[in-house]
Amino acid sequence: MRVEDTKCFGCEACIPYCPVEAISMRSDGIASVDWDICVECGNCQRAAQEICGAFYREEESLQWPRVLRAALSDTAFVSPLPQVKARGRGGGEKTNDVEGNFLPGEMGVQVELGRPNSGVSFKEVEKFTKALAQIGIQFDPAIPTTRIMDDPSRGTFPEEVLKQRTLTVYVSFKTDEPGFDRAMEVIADLCRGLTTLATITLIRKVEPGQEMFPTGTLDRLGYSIQPNGKVNLGLGKPAYDFTERRQS
Ligand code: SF4
Ligand code: SF4
Repeated sequence: MRVEDTKCFGCEACIPYCPVEAISMRSDGIASVDWDICVECGNCQRAAQEICGAFYREEESLQWPRVLRAALSDTAFVSPLPQVKARGRGGGEKTNDVEGNFLPGEMGVQVELGRPNSGVSFKEVEKFTKALAQIGIQFDPAIPTTRIMDDPSRGTFPEEVLKQRTLTVYVSFKTDEPGFDRAMEVIADLCRGLTTLATITLIRKVEPGQEMFPTGTLDRLGYSIQPNGKVNLGLGKPAYDFTERRQS
């Protein structure tokens, strides 16, 4: 995002709207955006459109690879990228029950990096994806983070993507109980040196009488679970019968 100098009258009203503190006032009293820090979330443009209309996206912001920032940070941005087809940046956990993403016994892990207000660079994301790939994790092929990788089996991103930042990135995968323990060890280790925020979501279809997650590893690593159930009341009809994987 950029500021059109001639439209800015220095009221500073836009500054609190930037989640990553990329806006500051220059010595001449005009607002300015730090191009490297900005994740192209569009908040400033929406907030200031009735004040001054000074914010605008440069053509470069709409080109690869910088367009990734808006595609993954701005819920109102319609992405031109085939790798990031969806509008908005949400994970798919609300539709798991309808789409049949998890069979009994399977466990899902989703690591969200950057939100709500730190942002994250793909260099930081790659630390997670490379370490998880080394222990045999296979990433969810449907989500943008995996589609952007140049080699999902190694968890690596193209060089030009590593220079990009975004407000939030999801790393998602499915595993079994032994794989879950190993993955949580790796994630906990990486979180210790992390310079942004990480939210870890654990996903499982819980059968009657079944423990939600094996808590031994989580207790040892110092994690406590905050259970949030997503209950399908029947408005979304499951597209599978919970006994065999849905054919796609
Ligand atoms: S809201 Fe508009 S006029 Fe006020 S500082 Fe920001 S860019 Fe300048
Ligand atoms: S687009 Fe978002 S990150 Fe960039 S300056 Fe505006 S509010 Fe900040």
